[in-house]
Amino acid sequence: MAYQLIEILNPAEDVHCPHCGHAVLDWSEEQYIQPCEHTLFVAMDLGFEFIADEFEQCMARSVDEIHADDDNLNMIKELTGAQYPEYLIYQADLGFQGLKRYIGFTA
Ligand SMILES: [Zn+2]
Repeated sequence: MAYQLIEILNPAEDVHCPHCGHAVLDWSEEQYIQPCEHTLFVAMDLGFEFIADEFEQCMARSVDEIHADDDNLNMIKELTGAQYPEYLIYQADLGFQGLKRYIGFTA
């Protein structure tokens, strides 16, 4: 298994990069998604909010293909199916309809 899944217990908290400490999810900013150089993706079950080129190239389908087929979207399956060598997935419950947000970092 090339990825490690880490559950975020408090989704209201900012999410910091484990490498540089940058607040990748910063609720004090209007533009609350602030990727750093270690961020591979920020996604929800509904679609992508950010993706790094190097990670998209490792996925079985491109973001455009995934979004075009969003009736059948299984985000965690798309993310964990990527052929990226080593990565971390921070997973947070959005608190409605069982939806989750996933933030990927290099390992
Ligand atoms: Zn970083």
